[in-house]
This record gives sequence, structure tokens and C-alpha cells, in this order.
Amino acid sequence: MSKYLFAALFTLLSLYCYAVEREIIIGHSFEGRPIRLYKFGSGIQAVIIVAGVHGDERNTSVTAYHIIDMLRTEKIAIPCGKSVFIIPEANPDGLKNNTRTNARNVDLNRNFDTKVWYNTAYLHGKPLYCGEHPFSEPESKCLKNLFESVHLLGFLPIFVTYHSQANSIIDANDMDFNKKFSSFLRNNSKYKQVINYPTYGDAEKWVSERFLIPSASIEFKTKTEPDNEENEKILSVLLNTGFLKEFYDGRAAGLTCYFPNSFLLNETLLELKIGYK
Ligand SMILES: [Zn+2]
Repeated sequence: MSKYLFAALFTLLSLYCYAVEREIIIGHSFEGRPIRLYKFGSGIQAVIIVAGVHGDERNTSVTAYHIIDMLRTEKIAIPCGKSVFIIPEANPDGLKNNTRTNARNVDLNRNFDTKVWYNTAYLHGKPLYCGEHPFSEPESKCLKNLFESVHLLGFLPIFVTYHSQANSIIDANDMDFNKKFSSFLRNNSKYKQVINYPTYGDAEKWVSERFLIPSASIEFKTKTEPDNEENEKILSVLLNTGFLKEFYDGRAAGLTCYFPNSFLLNETLLELKIGYK
């Protein structure tokens, strides 16, 4: 049986079987390591968490796995109508090799197709290679597929990505909804505000520009220690307050709908439909 047929059949069955947790391989790194997505709940309002984008920020993956455990053991409960998607290791080669970049020396968080993009960026005066062109890397392409799928399936998402170590919540860009989102996160955590951190090619900016999804980067306090408690609190607040619903209820009608070319043969899309209500 083809995997597509199997996925379709499983989708049908899922109308009757409620899967609490699903583990989906949404792509592979340059060196062939799987990139895994853990999906909990089946609601349309989705909190999407991506960690381990920079391989030398392993503490972010440790916290992501901790959150997965909390969801698995229902120490963090998911209310009806909501779901949580977690990618704990977005850059598995970098995490294996303890490098910021992927195995091709590309800073993945500069490889997204933002309105402004250059192939070199600077961090503390040092150049970062952003790739040959936007989405030149398998790891960033895999996240692109995920967000396109989430969009096409009609999820109402919010996106946070874990980094270290600026001890802050960084706005994805200066759009009003992002300022509101980041100040909401700051008001519900101990993280501070960082002003003047201009970037391009980063996942959070691309997600906001392309799909108008509220996005923010959570910078852990240190480069080594997980920030479990703060991020448990943030997730609980996102799940248990009306922030997400209010944002989507209030969003203006008639927004541009984006249809990617890869729509028909996107395996992530098929996989995500499983358990979708
Ligand atoms: Zn980072």
C-alpha cells in the first residue's frame, strides 16, 4: 500500500480514534538525520515550538524534550480545541557536531525567505553564511513545508522558537500583532526585552511576513542550562488563556491566502491531517 493511501486511510480512521501523541518525521538533515515533530492534541489552535535551530544551543532542545515529557504525562494538559507541535531538534547535524550551523556551514536561522535577505549576515561583527539562496538547506525547507501545511490545513497557529542566551523575548518584527505577542510573553515570564536586534532570513520573521502568524524568539538565560520552568509557564499561559483565540477572532478578514507549489505532494501535510479535527 502506498504511503499516501495509508495516510488517507489513517485519516479516515482518526475520525474514530483520538491519538493523543503523534511522532512525525517531517524531513532529514543534510547528513540524513531525521527531523522529528511531536504533535499533541487535535485542536485547530496550535502552539508551534521549534528548538535546536542552532546546534551549539543544546539547552533549548533539552527544554523542548522536557516539555514533550510534561505533555506526554499530562502534567501540562491541552484544553479542547488546542494542540501543541514541537520540533526539539531542528538542526540535528549541528547538535551532533556542536556547531551553530548545519553540516554545510549555513546558519539555518538566516536561510528563510524574508523580504530582506542577503547571503551573509553578522553576529557580534562576525560573518554568518546564510546559504546560497533562501531555503537552500534541507532543514529550513522542512520547516517551510511544515508551516505551509499548517496554513493549508487551516490551523490557527502561534510560533515560538527557542534560542540562547540573550535572556529575552525578541519580537519577530515590528508588526503590531508581534509586539503584542512578545509583550504578552514578557508579562508572563521573567524574560526581558531586547531592543535593536535586526536580523533577516530568520524563521520567525518569515513565518510572520508570509502567513501573518504571531511569532517570537525566546532567548534562554544561559547557553548551557535548560529553562524548563519559564517555558512550562509560557506554554501553560498560551494554552489556558484566550490570547490565541482573541488574536484570530480579531484578525481582519480578506487576508491573502498563500498556496505553495508543493501542496499536492507534501507528505507533512498528509501526516498532519491525522488526528486533525
Ligand atoms: Zn540561536
